[in-house]
Amino acid sequence: MNSGFAALSLSADLLQVVNELGYSQPTPIQSQSIPLLLQGKDIIAQSKTGSGKTAAFTLPLLEKMRTRLARRSVSALILCPTRELCAQVAREIRKLGRKHPGLQVLILSGGMPMGPQLGSLERGVHIVVGTPGRVLDHLTRGSLQLQNLQNVVLDEADRMLEMGFQEDLEKILSFTPAERQTVLFSATFPGTIETLSRAYQKNPTRVTIESQP
Ligand code: ADP
Ligand code: MG
Repeated sequence: MNSGFAALSLSADLLQVVNELGYSQPTPIQSQSIPLLLQGKDIIAQSKTGSGKTAAFTLPLLEKMRTRLARRSVSALILCPTRELCAQVAREIRKLGRKHPGLQVLILSGGMPMGPQLGSLERGVHIVVGTPGRVLDHLTRGSLQLQNLQNVVLDEADRMLEMGFQEDLEKILSFTPAERQTVLFSATFPGTIETLSRAYQKNPTRVTIESQP
């Protein structure tokens, strides 16, 4: 059982969580992306909705997060187009991260009151999951500090661009350290994604899972 996940160089406690969640085999996007992400490569990954993209970027992130838990500073930023998607991604990270003692995941999405977000940022978190507008708002106020950032994920990148977030994304990325891993996940691959990739990724590997007709 779980030989599929076990082949991916994830540690025993993550394999156990995956097993407890009933994920018996990695999905194609997971088996292709996880090894590249564990090696620290930038990737641009495309596969259809419902194919398990969240765990594809979350499992390598949690693997790296293990040595970062002692310091409560933001080392990973995940950008999603909507509040609902932020909530879904944060839920999946917390589920998969249940063997990471003290892991703090904070949602910074628009339409939510600022007070609790400011309080949580003050106390310190490891992973921020947010919408571009609200994340940029915190960056310009100085309430979100990214000097220790190591991982950026643009989830549903195609939708973020469709929704007109390109400029916000560029501004957000300008706040991040040059030495970072930048990954793009998308259901489709319009030309605008290529442009974003060229500007912000280093030698990205493209991973494409064709949908079955
Ligand atoms: P996507 O982002 O590609 O649209 P999600 O990451 O939201 O897809 O995953 C869709 C569903 O599949 C979620 O409910 C998730 O918990 C589940 N899932 C993810 N990976 C696996 C797996 N390896 N085996 C079974 N279910 C999985
Ligand atoms: Mg998704």
